[in-house]
Amino acid sequence: MSTVYKILLCDVLNPITDKKAKLTRQAAIVLKSSKAGFKIHKIGPSNKIVAAFPGATIVDRTGQMALPGFFDMHFHWVQDDVRLMPKDSLLEWLSKYTWPYEMKFKSRKYSKEKAKKFSKELLSVGTLGGAVYASIHGHTVDDALENFTGNYIAGNVLMTMNSPKGLSQTREQALKLIESLSAKWGKAYAMTPRFAPTTHPDVMKAGAWLAKKRGSFIQTHLSESKDEINYVLGLYKDHQGFENIPTYTDIYKKCGMLGKKTIMGHGIHLSADELATLSKTGTVIAHCPTSNAPVKDKGLGSGLFNFKKIEKAGVRWALGSDIGGGPFLSMFDVMQSFVTQNKKAKLTGATYTKALYRATKAGAEVLGVHKKMGCLDEGMLANLILVDSPKGKNAEEALVQLHKPFHKKREDYLNLVNETYYAGESVYSKI
Ligand SMILES: [Zn+2]
Repeated sequence: MSTVYKILLCDVLNPITDKKAKLTRQAAIVLKSSKAGFKIHKIGPSNKIVAAFPGATIVDRTGQMALPGFFDMHFHWVQDDVRLMPKDSLLEWLSKYTWPYEMKFKSRKYSKEKAKKFSKELLSVGTLGGAVYASIHGHTVDDALENFTGNYIAGNVLMTMNSPKGLSQTREQALKLIESLSAKWGKAYAMTPRFAPTTHPDVMKAGAWLAKKRGSFIQTHLSESKDEINYVLGLYKDHQGFENIPTYTDIYKKCGMLGKKTIMGHGIHLSADELATLSKTGTVIAHCPTSNAPVKDKGLGSGLFNFKKIEKAGVRWALGSDIGGGPFLSMFDVMQSFVTQNKKAKLTGATYTKALYRATKAGAEVLGVHKKMGCLDEGMLANLILVDSPKGKNAEEALVQLHKPFHKKREDYLNLVNETYYAGESVYSKI
């Protein structure tokens, strides 16, 4: 197979670290074909590069700005239709809207149709990877992993206790599903207790053991709201071996669930001891600002995630949309919420540069694919999105300008992406 070159002409914004991103105006991105698809071969000033690759196909996207595709590190693909339902409290929103909706996914036909639709929605907002919660039904994991374009891990939620009829399974059923799906999907599978109250500790323990054996991931929810913590600790007093368990985190620790391939959703209300445990084990927190935001901002009002405390404790973290706890699938909306909420609380350091890093490279690193994707460095797979190029002298200024029109009409973020490329092929386009 002969090598094929493609050149994209556009501005480029490449995340580097929490504090650094690079903006290159009037750039040329040279894409080179490989077995895995098109990779980024070179990025440089267009006037010099174009002449150096005479046979290359030129894709003129002048006036557009390229960013890497997003990693959404916590979302429920089976909650797409409850995103905007009233959210007076987490536990009420779950039982009133979310659980009845997830029951519909028992139908294989419904699940398949929804997965096809949802995979298009992901591409339209520029998301090309992440960590996915499905419903209790095994086929909802298959439907997600077979249909979503990009690099995802997914898991069926395990619900063996304190769960509504129609969304409950026996311990044997739960374990059987973990066994078969982790064998089928390996490192793309995530053992996914919904959260400690809904999953027997012996299921979590056996599931964690299996997940680790198969190289799969583990994901669940941790300390999202204060009511939830009291509820969890109250419940576990009655579980043998957990009578004196000091914290919510210790429940998961005792079940062998913590580690470098474990992602905890939310983690807002954590003690210093809990943070030390997460740090020591390399466990990751998926922070979902739009879901945690006040109810008036379409969130669940769970509180503000103290990223400074988390970073000081050395805990790894990345951003997620938490659809349907979060109202919009766009990671741009999630970035804006992170910046705005911290600004309102007068906390410094929550820049768009940081938000972009946590919505791209940090997620790729959690999934262990950061050597192949997550940014626009040379050698990376060409997974990128194009948006109208904003003004601004540097990366942070450009990102501020990019977000400005959307503060008061957040749903318009869903139309911000003009084109999405996966491995150098256009997989979504309005251009
Ligand atoms: Zn969630």
